[in-house]
Amino acid sequence: MATIFTKIIKGEIPCYKIAEDENYFAFLDINPVQKGHTLVVPKIEDDYIFHLDDQTLAGLMLFSKKVAKAIEKAVPCKRISMAVVGLEVPHTHVHLIPISQESDLNFAKKQQLTPEEMAKIAESIRANF
Ligand code: 5GP
Repeated sequence: MATIFTKIIKGEIPCYKIAEDENYFAFLDINPVQKGHTLVVPKIEDDYIFHLDDQTLAGLMLFSKKVAKAIEKAVPCKRISMAVVGLEVPHTHVHLIPISQESDLNFAKKQQLTPEEMAKIAESIRANF
């Protein structure tokens, strides 16, 4: 069965899309740790990042770098942190989260943003991509 992220990539489930290319797709996390929290996924389904072949893994990092540069321009922060968790959705993904201090990276504390706020952030990141 297709993962929820494959359904998002195919447009079967809505998302706040940031960018895509032939092999990767980026969209806002629906329960952001911080404003601008973005997920980057390879289009191929693989549950575990360290099972990816070298080329796919390297491509994921390079695509994430481009997305991170766009988030940096759109969201005030000191830097973009990168995390891989993967305990909830069995489709490899990288979390890109704007932070200014270590405590900003707390997966147990999610932000409550309105759909309008999410759409505005996505638009601003897209404009800088
Ligand atoms: P992880 O698998 O890395 O532990 O966490 C999965 C992440 O995906 C969570 O931060 C969660 O908020 C996000 N997520 C789960 N389902 C959806 C969804 O349907 N849409 C979006 N945009 N994000 C999701």
